[in-house]
Amino acid sequence: MSYTHIFAGNPLDRGDQARRDEDLLKAMMRQDNTKLLPFHKLKPLVQRGSQAALAWIGHEFLGDLPEEAGGPKFLGFDIDQNPHFAVDISVVEDPSHIAALVPGAEFEDGRAAATDIPSEQSGVLAQARSNLNWHAQHRFCSVCGSESQSQRGGLMRECPKCKSQHFPRTDPVAIMLVYKGDRCVMGQTLARQNSTFYSCLAGFMDQGEAIEEGVRREVMEEAGIKVGKVTYHSSQPWPFPASLMIGCHAEANSDEIVIDDGEMSDVRWFTRDEVKLALEDKLEGVNIPGPIAIAHHLIKAWVYGTANI
Ligand SMILES: [Zn+2]
Repeated sequence: MSYTHIFAGNPLDRGDQARRDEDLLKAMMRQDNTKLLPFHKLKPLVQRGSQAALAWIGHEFLGDLPEEAGGPKFLGFDIDQNPHFAVDISVVEDPSHIAALVPGAEFEDGRAAATDIPSEQSGVLAQARSNLNWHAQHRFCSVCGSESQSQRGGLMRECPKCKSQHFPRTDPVAIMLVYKGDRCVMGQTLARQNSTFYSCLAGFMDQGEAIEEGVRREVMEEAGIKVGKVTYHSSQPWPFPASLMIGCHAEANSDEIVIDDGEMSDVRWFTRDEVKLALEDKLEGVNIPGPIAIAHHLIKAWVYGTANI
């Protein structure tokens, strides 16, 4: 079974050929069929109505933007070859006149909007938000300190002085449901201490580490459990700011839990019946992630035996 999570399923053709032609990119920013999605402090413009949707606007407003806003970043073409761009307008103090270009539109938190807009648009939102955030935080060359310039529509920055090329980063995170027989492991991070929130164990991949190795290391660090077989399930872009969640099922070879109390406030074994109740929001004192998160699907796939384990 294949899964398309929220923030995946972006339908745009990212247009690699067009990205390599700077003149074409500049021309496309001003075409009548160009669609721009403004973000203010990483909040996308969202139109509310019978169906919430990303609020695209024409290029006319670009002329009023201060130069420090930085150029639009190319997202790709839709099926009718309309070019789509995202543009960071954070330098505009009060963006209400830009929101007013689309009736009923407001700048909204991307995470809240993601579950209301059509799911393929959440993929566009993920691409745009991660890319704009990276540019905002990587204006200067990390080799020589000069201000670098966006190239290829935002797919890289190049330093005019030392010619170093810098590419947008994606941070891989291993997230895994650990199981053994009829039980699985869920934990609560220190950040959620004293709440009822339990989820899969997870952690950033280290450099020079295979996914299976990252899974085994994280589970050992957070819960002291030895993991044998690791099975990949699915992945999810998570644009806060630029993670890629790599979802796995991990078979435990040991039972005893030794909690890393520098990171976790609790880690426990749960029975399949308990987790079934938790999925229905009926397990007292325990709440687990909703369908926006890959953790929900990793848990569900194990409970109902649809995972390939
Ligand atoms: Zn440089």
